[in-house]
Amino acid sequence: MYDSVVIGGGPAGSKAAELLAKDFDVLVMEEHASSGTPAGCAGLITDEVLRMSGVRPDVHNRLYGANVFFPCGEKITVRSDWAKANVVDRTELDELMAGKAMDAGAEYRFDCKYTDHQITDRVIVNPSGEKAECSLLIGADGHSSKVAMSMGFDNSPKEYLRGFQMDIRKRYDEDDMINLRLGSEIAPGFFSWEIPYGDNVRVGLCTSWSAGYPYDYMKKLLKAAGLENSEVLQTYAGKIPIGGRPKSYGNRTLLIGDAAGQVKPVSGGGLYPAFKSAGPLKDVALDAFYKNDFSESNLSKYDKMWKKSAGKELKNGYFLRKMFVKFGDGDLDRACRIASQESVRSILDDIDLDSPSKVVSKMRIRDMMKFIPVLMRVIL
Ligand SMILES: Cc1cc2nc3c(=O)[nH]c(=O)nc-3n(C[C@H](O)[C@H](O)[C@H](O)COP(=O)(O)OP(=O)(O)OC[C@H]3O[C@@H](n4cnc5c(N)ncnc54)[C@H](O)[C@@H]3O)c2cc1C
Repeated sequence: MYDSVVIGGGPAGSKAAELLAKDFDVLVMEEHASSGTPAGCAGLITDEVLRMSGVRPDVHNRLYGANVFFPCGEKITVRSDWAKANVVDRTELDELMAGKAMDAGAEYRFDCKYTDHQITDRVIVNPSGEKAECSLLIGADGHSSKVAMSMGFDNSPKEYLRGFQMDIRKRYDEDDMINLRLGSEIAPGFFSWEIPYGDNVRVGLCTSWSAGYPYDYMKKLLKAAGLENSEVLQTYAGKIPIGGRPKSYGNRTLLIGDAAGQVKPVSGGGLYPAFKSAGPLKDVALDAFYKNDFSESNLSKYDKMWKKSAGKELKNGYFLRKMFVKFGDGDLDRACRIASQESVRSILDDIDLDSPSKVVSKMRIRDMMKFIPVLMRVIL
């Protein structure tokens, strides 16, 4: 019998396994033959997230700012003197993190799919398959988490985004900036990105669920970016849970990462909140083992603890997202004209990608007031 079984060997599962393995017997079940494949991520992470990962993947590029294109064709450029984000390969990051968890003592069972579990005086994982028993089950099985959905009620996130991405052979002249495009033609309900790295660019977009498949918008994005005739190296698709799940804990169960809906609603980034939540998960697990109390009420403090650590951005970001999805192309263009004014744009230069919603609190009242007519139109 293991102390803990972690379902999913992605970054959230491996970080949780690494921390828990220092004190407990941990098994990670991963349905694929290795961690990190198939990759479904832009691999854009800040220095802080790189540090929190605890590993050192190759950094393929460092980005200092963004060109944000609005539906009317206008562009706002935000740039700073320090690198805002690193471009890494998610397959490499996930493999290195799994290796680090193994070094800490976690056992990995690859090609092992979680199907279900039973709870008695312990957790019996996959009772009629590749079975394992433990005291505490950790669901780190990503956006469509079966562990989250097996908790006995509808534990779905508030919303899902759909994403599609291609790696394309093309060298950008301005190769230290990301291009972001907004508007219903290219990325309804979210945005698109072009991330240059070396001789290639990672180009992708997410859409609101109701807007249909992101692949259908890719042609317009490739045209806008002048990439229609470039060689496609690989493609990825994925889903992003937005707005959190109702519960991240249950009887003998804790959730982390996309499985818990720990994703920033403004950017769709999930690594920062997942890593921020790993410490609280470990503290709550230590307490549960110490007290031998794995009840739902004892584990409930995990919810408060990770929300204290990472939840503010998720809450504020979801509020901003609810506004954003109501913006039509005309509202975006109006917001562009206001944001182009120097006093507002200079605040955007300093945006922290790990807490993007903080940009609002940095604005002076005078600048915030300028957005009120646009917001009133949207709200009314
Ligand atoms: C197009 C796109 C671009 C993105 N870009 C970024 C970005 O640039 N920066 C960023 O921070 N975030 C980004 N994200 C979000 C990020 O990819 C996720 O938040 C992150 O991968 C979450 O990590 P995780 O470990 O929780 O889940 P995952 O990475 O999904 O890992 C879950 C693991 O569980 C395994 N698994 C699932 N079901 C089972 C099962 N039944 N049995 C066993 N194993 C199972 C999976 O195989 C997988 O290895 C992006 C997402 C998309 C879709």
